[in-house]
Amino acid sequence: MRKPVIAGNWKLFKTTTEAIALVTELAPLVGTVDNVEIVVAPVFTVLSSVQRAIAGTNISLAAQNVFWEEEGAFTGEVSPRMLLDVGCSHVIIGHSERRQYFGETDTTVNRKIRAALNGELVPIFCIGETLAEREAGKTFDVLERQVRGGLEGFTSDQLGPLIVAYEPVWAIGTGKTATDDQAQEAHAFVRGVLAKMFDQGTAERTRILYGGSVKPDNVKGLMSRPDIDGALVGGASLKADSFASIVRFG
Ligand code: PGA
Repeated sequence: MRKPVIAGNWKLFKTTTEAIALVTELAPLVGTVDNVEIVVAPVFTVLSSVQRAIAGTNISLAAQNVFWEEEGAFTGEVSPRMLLDVGCSHVIIGHSERRQYFGETDTTVNRKIRAALNGELVPIFCIGETLAEREAGKTFDVLERQVRGGLEGFTSDQLGPLIVAYEPVWAIGTGKTATDDQAQEAHAFVRGVLAKMFDQGTAERTRILYGGSVKPDNVKGLMSRPDIDGALVGGASLKADSFASIVRFG
């Protein structure tokens, strides 16, 4: 019922030549996959080039961030309309690196999600607890606060195609994946918060991706869990063969 999504977050990697080489190698490796939505999220500067390289393939394009205004005196920002203009269908919002290094809060995340949805982009809304928060037994409190903050003021109709990505901060780039049980527990909890905030139907249709050191050898276990609907992949998305095997669930 929920089509799985495998999204590659390229972070601050890949020049134009490197980005084109990566998707050109990736496309034939995943060309026959039709049961998974495949998304890549390069840096802003290569979006146009990647868009041309993936035209006619089953790979969709995402940006890693967006601003909430359409246009104006906002030096250094990029709007939903501009992302749509270069062929993006998705946008990552509220990644923990943005929260940690660039001052993003539940409030800015909320505004960005609203702008993305109004601009016909699918938000990939990231949440996740730090190691200190997990060790202090606050994981569920943090997740609930982030989900409520990010989605406050929306109706279930407005949420539309929104995707949530649960990414425990301690698992990102560390090689330390959450166990299948830890991930499933968090996903089920988040789905429960969506049911409380909206309704059962919204909770059941919303895809919740896991992120944090997803690799070809751990994706299968994660994907076998009922509330895990895909993955947001950092490091392992930078190589065509490893990302392609994640798309095939290992
Ligand atoms: P990772 O990153 O796969 O390198 O841990 C995931 C992410 O930050 O989205």
